[in-house]
Amino acid sequence: MSHTFSPEVIGEIQERARLGRCEVRGWGARRAVPGFDDLLILTAGLSPTPLEDHRERCDTRTVLGTRNASEPVILDIPITIAGMSFGALSAGAKEALARAATLTGTSATTGEGGLIPEERGAAKTLVYQCLPSRYGFDPDHLRAADAVEIVLGQGASPGAGGVLLGQKVTTPVAYMRDLPEGVDQRSASRHPDWAGADGLRVKIEELREVTGWRIPVYVKIGASRVAPDVRHAVEAGADVIVVDGMQGGTGAAHDVFIEHTGIPTLAALRLAADTLRALSVENEVQLVISGGIRSGADVAKALALGADAVSVGVAALIALGCNSPSDDTGADVSLGYRALGTSPGSCTACHTGGCPVGIATQDDMLADRLDPDFGAERVANYLRSLATEATMLARACGRASVHDLAPDDLVALTVEAAAMARVPLAGTTWIPGVTG
Ligand code: SF4
Repeated sequence: MSHTFSPEVIGEIQERARLGRCEVRGWGARRAVPGFDDLLILTAGLSPTPLEDHRERCDTRTVLGTRNASEPVILDIPITIAGMSFGALSAGAKEALARAATLTGTSATTGEGGLIPEERGAAKTLVYQCLPSRYGFDPDHLRAADAVEIVLGQGASPGAGGVLLGQKVTTPVAYMRDLPEGVDQRSASRHPDWAGADGLRVKIEELREVTGWRIPVYVKIGASRVAPDVRHAVEAGADVIVVDGMQGGTGAAHDVFIEHTGIPTLAALRLAADTLRALSVENEVQLVISGGIRSGADVAKALALGADAVSVGVAALIALGCNSPSDDTGADVSLGYRALGTSPGSCTACHTGGCPVGIATQDDMLADRLDPDFGAERVANYLRSLATEATMLARACGRASVHDLAPDDLVALTVEAAAMARVPLAGTTWIPGVTG
């Protein structure tokens, strides 16, 4: 068997030859890249000593947007819900995520399709996205938000916009986006009214004027050329930098971008944190990292490397019911997965609109399979478990706040992870590229 032309590659080539088009799919990169699993946490011993679990307090309060906004975003936990569009997701899924955010004292984020009333009604703290396509963008919705996020790119497809296939452009989605129904929609890859760092500065000032300098302005970048992008965003006046690594998910994007562009979340995080430090703004501009966050250990490691908060997307959808063998009525939905050519546990078919559990769909009958109340409880349980795990690890490191975790609480298991995270290889003092 050829390693270069494996059975999978042969199948892909035959499929391209038959259809003459490039693969579009949901979720994020399938390839293995260095990640948080390649790091271990150095817990405390004699000095410092660990804190007593459950008896000594470990703070999780998180404040984002302290640089310019008169009303920064204040969260109970350092875990937010990432932007996902109405269009990619059903209205029920958007409502459930917003409700889960409120139950856990954190924020939800809109997405490319604009703001639906269910979402604003359910989310106590809502981040409103300003995307290159401007689909559904409404200044009144912006003024009703608690923060605005200018999206320059996403980790799954940096340098390119996403895709919404025609089967998901139903009447309400088309109305929100001012698009014809049933037609494939490709999002813009850059903003239409400005280019470059100077234009970003003007856009940030414009958004501040519209919102009366009340709410923070986040700038989200897809992790590619992280250091210059972070520097430009900071110099343009961003209050919060959001970096989405290559393991970040998408409702639909070209596979060639998902697998072959950007850099891993681990590398992106350390680059962004070091850039903020080099600019002496690490206490002024907050950093949010996303892209493959799954557990409280991931959260603790991300905070130790310099993030002020993390954002979850795919993991929140899994908590909501994605890839579950049954829906919220308890019905077995295996046949639905089979119709998409997949099965529970390996589904990445969000782009098709045929989501068997009612999350990534605009089909009313499928959407009814998700109960927003039940879904919100599951996502809230999941978020609480992440926060609990992160505090357990922080206490074990002797930290009274999860935000006190630091790079010297970490070691790496592989040379690659040590070089990307700039922490020592376990059992040594060697940081590749840093120490001799
Ligand atoms: S179960 Fe639904 S949300 Fe999950 S990957 Fe499949 S289509 Fe997407």
